[in-house]
Amino acid sequence: MSEGRSFSHGAGGGAEIAARFGDLHPPFDRQGAIAEANRCLFCFDAPCMGACPTHIDVPGFIKKIASGNLAGSARTILDANVMGASCSRACPVEVLCEGACVLHRYNKQPIEIGRLQRYAMDAFHASGDKLPFEPGAATGWSVALIGAGPASLACAAELRRKGIRAVVYDGRPLPGGLNTYGIAEYKLPLVESLREIDMIARLGVEFHFEAQVDAGRLAELEREHDAVFLGVGLGAIHRLGIAGEEMAGVTNALDLIAGYKSGELTVVPERVAVIGAGNTAIDAAVAAVRLGAEEVHMIYRRGPEQMSAFPFEYDHAREEGVRFHWFVQPVGLEGEVGIEGVRLVKLEAAEDGSLVPKVGSERVLAVEMVVLAIGQGTHTAFLGEVGREAAQVELERGRIVIDRVTGQTSHPKFFAGGDCTNGGREVVDAVADGKRAGIGIAAWLEGRHVGA
Ligand code: SF4
Repeated sequence: MSEGRSFSHGAGGGAEIAARFGDLHPPFDRQGAIAEANRCLFCFDAPCMGACPTHIDVPGFIKKIASGNLAGSARTILDANVMGASCSRACPVEVLCEGACVLHRYNKQPIEIGRLQRYAMDAFHASGDKLPFEPGAATGWSVALIGAGPASLACAAELRRKGIRAVVYDGRPLPGGLNTYGIAEYKLPLVESLREIDMIARLGVEFHFEAQVDAGRLAELEREHDAVFLGVGLGAIHRLGIAGEEMAGVTNALDLIAGYKSGELTVVPERVAVIGAGNTAIDAAVAAVRLGAEEVHMIYRRGPEQMSAFPFEYDHAREEGVRFHWFVQPVGLEGEVGIEGVRLVKLEAAEDGSLVPKVGSERVLAVEMVVLAIGQGTHTAFLGEVGREAAQVELERGRIVIDRVTGQTSHPKFFAGGDCTNGGREVVDAVADGKRAGIGIAAWLEGRHVGA
């Protein structure tokens, strides 16, 4: 168990990684922040607020920056979103709050809400301030939270506010899930993720690391606690299913990102191929550039219109020098000991619209590293394994089915949120889910107690 420990102290890839992965959006200085805050129209019924899954009072916190009340600004953010610091860096604001800003209607630049939020949260952390709320009076109830990602952390903070014991179990040595291990360092540095979690831990959240929870352990936790929150995220990245995937030099995007963020991976070969075209694939491709690759190729079996990466991520990758190959499919990996190339075939549209290999188009792209980024599977099979009681947690295509208001599953004692319920969305969606589930669990426990 880990209580009272600072997770951020001494963690991360050190100065070299920090230098290579400098801020994508540099922070505001005081003058810049105040000028930007004063551009805000402080809209009544602000659309930016509605576009935020955690409904942060955006005009409220910006107004406080404009008047120099940074502590008040941070309190406004934290009251709605306890992970306001990481969200300010990791959120795709272009499609959330900033995308909804009314200034678009006047052909003006939207307010830089993400950078302003970061400005307030950086000042808050630098000041050493505590969270603007305390743990509630002890109720005697306890909840096990499986997974230490944003959904569980937001849920745990909410539970502590209500005086409920929150005990988090995670298989890795550090908390934060994707916030710590899976988001590009130039967006959210590992130490920043951990610094935020240090603050949440001070609410009295208890942590067990390197704790694997299988069906048997889950049944024990169900007996030991009054409720269970499932924030298990997604499973492993899919494999291609072609020969050679076990060779040295084949990895996946999440392992690559976690490797350099922790400092274990400091250099990559000269030529790298990334298979896939989602946001994680882009993060991996840009990482390969920053880690010294001279050629980084992204391989995608469809066209730019179909890729799941946001347009601004695509633009960023191109600015970094990543080369895109559309309508191509890997059909083999070449090499003896390690990867020497990826065998590709061009795809063309058949009469029925399906994509089929173009005859005679096969070629080998010489690379020394292949990074798989073709989506993740689920990690929920253990919920249905032998040993669980009759009332099972209902799944749909591997995702946990929940009541979207309370986070409750088909098994009343189990609640869930984040990627394991939505198939993989943004950090801020996981935080919103976790917060809702914390409120839902407290209400369910109170109702059960009253009715007992
Ligand atoms: Fe300010 Fe834009 Fe939000 Fe209006 S919509 S409150 S201008 S950030």
